[in-house]
Amino acid sequence: MRSLVLFSNDLRLNDNDAINNAVENHKELSFLFVFDKDLYQNTHGSANMWWLKESLTELRSKLKEKDIELHIVEGDYIKKIIQLVAKHKFDSVFLNQNKHPEFIKKEEELSKELTKINVRFYSYNKTNLQDPKTILNKSLEPYKVYSPFYKHCKSIYHQKNVLIFPRKKINTYNINEKNFEIDNIFNLQDNKWANKFSKYWKPGETSAHKKLKVFYEKSLSNYKEIRDFPATNGTSKISPHLRFGEITTNQIISNFNFHENHILSKHEEHYIKELYWREFSYYILSHFPYVVNKPFNKKYEKFQWEKNYSDNLAKWKNGRTGIKIVDAAMKELWETGWMHNRTRMITASFLTKNLLIPWQEGEKWFRDTLLDADIANNVMGWQWVSGCGTDAAPYFRIFNPLLQEKKFDPDNEYTKKWLKDFELYEDGENQDLFCNPDKIKPIVDLSTSRNKALERFSKIK
Ligand SMILES: Cc1cc2nc3c(=O)[nH]c(=O)nc-3n(C[C@H](O)[C@H](O)[C@H](O)COP(=O)(O)OP(=O)(O)OC[C@H]3O[C@@H](n4cnc5c(N)ncnc54)[C@H](O)[C@@H]3O)c2cc1C
Repeated sequence: MRSLVLFSNDLRLNDNDAINNAVENHKELSFLFVFDKDLYQNTHGSANMWWLKESLTELRSKLKEKDIELHIVEGDYIKKIIQLVAKHKFDSVFLNQNKHPEFIKKEEELSKELTKINVRFYSYNKTNLQDPKTILNKSLEPYKVYSPFYKHCKSIYHQKNVLIFPRKKINTYNINEKNFEIDNIFNLQDNKWANKFSKYWKPGETSAHKKLKVFYEKSLSNYKEIRDFPATNGTSKISPHLRFGEITTNQIISNFNFHENHILSKHEEHYIKELYWREFSYYILSHFPYVVNKPFNKKYEKFQWEKNYSDNLAKWKNGRTGIKIVDAAMKELWETGWMHNRTRMITASFLTKNLLIPWQEGEKWFRDTLLDADIANNVMGWQWVSGCGTDAAPYFRIFNPLLQEKKFDPDNEYTKKWLKDFELYEDGENQDLFCNPDKIKPIVDLSTSRNKALERFSKIK
């Protein structure tokens, strides 16, 4: 009995159902990652590709420590797998589902192709804590609002086993294929902008668990209070690790006694609720797949965005809007490949509600530059802020970035950290658009642009 274990965005050894089930039932195993250039470029932004390369390198060396080779080959996802399965007479294929819509299609196709040649196909889901298809409201329809969704999930939650990589010796089968050079996934010579990421991040399963441990020890006991302050280390920064499946939400939640009748500390509960925002994003994507590029609330398709916005979009991307907190956040993103949740909301609100630029443009930039760029969370984050998603902020609630700055960065710690030219910014309180030509000024008047947005929103109500 010979079996193939496939990796995609489950770059971990523990809590890996595909590995454990394959080891349980089969004599010989091969571990494989297929790099389908088109598929990965369509589903991963540039920063994602850096992480993928680093994380695969780490996975390969962790397997090597166990005397197991990770075969990395290049080619068309389906054709390559079917070709290898036929050539080496594998009788089954195991994988953990990848919930990106493009991968869902590929995995369905793979299942059909394998059935045709009598090869068994086993697939598992640890991307989500609960299967989106099984969660419905009393009218047997999908939830569209987060709070009742969360309440329901909590009431039916059962902790799944957290799997440990099998201790028994694994017999491997060498497919003897020419290994694809991992460095070709992301070439640092051609992408010098990414060199700085290694200063801030260490991709891989080991680092994911270390990071979570530090968060539990240092920040969890204050999480609810400090999570909104971007200058603090108040959040776990686990998002890119979750994005690549180096750690599962199942593993994270197993550290809490999470069920309906147990009272958690307010900080623990808040952290779990954030993890459930991720669940909710995947849930909505699963039930309403059109949200990938269209508003959940279809009436907002008619919203009148600005037409000639390329200059302002470029200024937003480059952190040159003249609004300190927006520019600092865009610099943080460019420098580190990550941005704090509070400033994701502020920058997204500024783009869509002050510059009136379509949310899809911002989503695209985040998708390309965030290391944690995740189709479900990114799309739902943008729709929530711009007011067209499920459960979205009402259209008349428009963030004032200056007030946000005052409230969440009162001592300018965050803005000073990221803005080299901090001193050149006009003081938010006393903006004087006509005096001192040397000062950096906002590219739009916040109050006029706010009113313009309100007027346009009110038209499609
Ligand atoms: C416009 C916009 C775009 C976003 N794009 C992404 C994205 O591409 N990828 C991504 O993972 N998150 C995205 N988010 C959600 C959120 O900002 C990040 O998950 C969070 O900042 C990650 O930091 P953390 O791991 O320290 O979070 P923590 O506060 O430590 O939370 C732990 C985990 O809970 C989940 N989570 C936390 N907040 C949210 C949220 N608001 N929505 C959904 N899940 C959440 C994440 O998986 C996060 O890693 C976006 C939010 C907005 C407003």
